[in-house]
Amino acid sequence: MRIDDLPIRDDLRGQTPYGAPQLDVAVRLNTNENSYPLPDDVVEAIGKAVQGELRDLNRYPDRDAMALRTVLADYLGHGLSPANVWAANGSNEVQQQLLQAFGGPGRKALGFGPSYSMHPLLALGTGTDWIGALRDPDFGLDPVAAVAQIEEHDPDLVFLCSPNNPTGTALDPEVIAAVLDRARGVVIVDEAYAEFARAGTPSALTLLPEHPRLIVSRTMSKAFGFAGGRLGYFAAHPAVVEAVQLVRLPYHLSALTQAAARAAVAQRDALLATVEAIKEQRDRIVDTLRERGYRVADSDANFVLFAVSPGEASGNQKVTWQRLLDRGVLIRDVGLPGWLRVTAGTPAETDAFLEALG
Ligand SMILES: *Cc1c(COP(=O)(O)O)cnc(C)c1O
Repeated sequence: MRIDDLPIRDDLRGQTPYGAPQLDVAVRLNTNENSYPLPDDVVEAIGKAVQGELRDLNRYPDRDAMALRTVLADYLGHGLSPANVWAANGSNEVQQQLLQAFGGPGRKALGFGPSYSMHPLLALGTGTDWIGALRDPDFGLDPVAAVAQIEEHDPDLVFLCSPNNPTGTALDPEVIAAVLDRARGVVIVDEAYAEFARAGTPSALTLLPEHPRLIVSRTMSKAFGFAGGRLGYFAAHPAVVEAVQLVRLPYHLSALTQAAARAAVAQRDALLATVEAIKEQRDRIVDTLRERGYRVADSDANFVLFAVSPGEASGNQKVTWQRLLDRGVLIRDVGLPGWLRVTAGTPAETDAFLEALG
């Protein structure tokens, strides 16, 4: 029996699941993880926190994760309180809950591609129509073009991504402001890479007080190096938090996840200590590729998007991707003809990537 033989939903027929390759190679620079393992003292602190929960695993965890939301609000600053913050198993789950509450059958979500491939997949899974609006050919987005596409489609949700994955560049705050002024629905700004932004790049968190339909999505998967821990969160008006509580599964965040994440946030100085080193490698990749004649998008993230053929209009990214893999370097083909994305990791990983590409 195959999928198509099942009485599966019509809108899921012929679809392919999210599938970034998970391959066992020496240099893995394809999913924008933090390449640095957790420091020993953080490992110990998380271990203790998890240990402290074990006797009580006979009980359900705090459904509302209040203690965790308190430390996350404190981390975000901007005068936010726990009532403004919601957490789930990764920002993917956070965004799925937002689509469950604000999207669904008969409703529309709009995003500006190329952007994060999970936004349309989460819309699909929740029965929300996806409108693939477009960025400029150079991957920029200006306020006039953004607003025109919103007026044309009148979506219930708008996804913005800043810094944008896979292009790496942060949005001009004017775009976010213009979209907030025009959009009727909620506006989600996915700031998964906020901690890596170049100096002077403001977070959409600064816009929250004036915009009750703005939702800023964050994650511990990237800068915090906590991808395996699965913890994402958002900041918004308290009414938005109440709205997602209507659709979340009760006890969606296990006691172990909550305890581990609380301990990780408490150790944030040690965890975020790698951010500067990663930004250095990011800038080194950008500079070196430009010196070699490649077209490279400006990056505020921990990855770099580059055109695979220096000097040529377009190269075949699939060939370059495979040849790098043959040399033990796994990077990401995001399905953008002629372009590939590479994560900035350790200096040794950058060495391996640059040498293999050469
Ligand atoms: C990596 C990434 C995430 C992280 O998702 P989690 O579920 O929190 O691991 C979210 N948004 C974007 C744009 C990303 O690139």
